[in-house]
Amino acid sequence: MVRAYNFNAGPAALPEEVLLKAQKEFLDFEGSHMSVMELSHRSKEYSRVHDRASALLRELMEIPEDYEVLFLQGGASLQFSMVPMNLLDKNLGASYILTGSWSEKALKEAKKVGPVEVAASTKESGYHAIPALADIQWKQETSYVHLTSNNTIYGTQWKEFPQTGHIPLITDMSSDILSKKIDVSRFGLIYAGAQKNLGPSGVTVVIIRKDLIKHDDSLPTMLSYDTHVNSRSLYNTPPTFAIYLLSLVLEWTKDHGGVSQIEKLNKEKSALIYNAIDESSGFYTGHADRDSRSDMNITFTLPSSELTKQFLQEAANEGFIGLSGHRSVGGCRASIYNAVPLEHCLTLAEFMKNFQKTNS
Ligand SMILES: *Cc1c(COP(=O)(O)O)cnc(C)c1O
Repeated sequence: MVRAYNFNAGPAALPEEVLLKAQKEFLDFEGSHMSVMELSHRSKEYSRVHDRASALLRELMEIPEDYEVLFLQGGASLQFSMVPMNLLDKNLGASYILTGSWSEKALKEAKKVGPVEVAASTKESGYHAIPALADIQWKQETSYVHLTSNNTIYGTQWKEFPQTGHIPLITDMSSDILSKKIDVSRFGLIYAGAQKNLGPSGVTVVIIRKDLIKHDDSLPTMLSYDTHVNSRSLYNTPPTFAIYLLSLVLEWTKDHGGVSQIEKLNKEKSALIYNAIDESSGFYTGHADRDSRSDMNITFTLPSSELTKQFLQEAANEGFIGLSGHRSVGGCRASIYNAVPLEHCLTLAEFMKNFQKTNS
């Protein structure tokens, strides 16, 4: 079977093995003579899928006991609102670190809920970098500090997170969750839309420390974490098929040695493409500063907009999908999430080298 060289930013490549397994079980899930999509979300069969997804995520990310795992809808974008609605104390305000468009959007929603401050921003320099830890300053008392761990559009990624002490650190991990080992206990809340590293679109994972879950009658029921915690993310009909695929992706991750193996592979994959950039004597220029480079989204341009256009055209002719940069940055972007095979990165790096040879 021919599979595309899929470098889409999201929704993105899924592991072929996962798709094959879903295909095999599509009409008859575990002897039920029904598709997973046709199961009641209150059935025993679906319940097992739901619990397996949660248990596997806990195991793979080593999520401590004092955290809840939720499967919600509305994408990471709804979390931009739910986080402040549930956690922003209006007397204290909240602190946001701006490293790209997604953190700007998170800030915009928080502003509607209560006072906010910008604890650091790299906007002035075109979001080429993650701020130095020493340059981040938040009010001594603030409801939380929010950051975006990987900037999907600009191609930058945090290597080390700020120490916030007793103040909850909240992170949008949509584009690098499960791509490397992280210490969950450093965070108050982690959220991620599934469609980059975890599965298809339609489900959003929230990992929240239990002491942050509060009951607030003034919140709409569906927008309160409390509701979803108390009903095991089954208050209303969850996106059952998306959660099923998530469970298959997590199984696949486990079968491939877990997060530490995936992390190792991700490093090799990104090195192939960054080397093609670094060894091009300036033919390719990376958008991100070296020490802020993302292992998930690699952003670069060529010497002229004509060459960039030609590169993208020839790449498309060769079967590469999704290499255009985001419209706000331009240039090129290769998104190489967990499910993108090493061989595809190797093929892209070779293509880049050949293109350079014939065009410089
Ligand atoms: C894709 C992405 C989002 C948006 O996710 P939706 O699920 O479409 O709302 C938010 N933040 C980051 C970092 C992303 O990469």
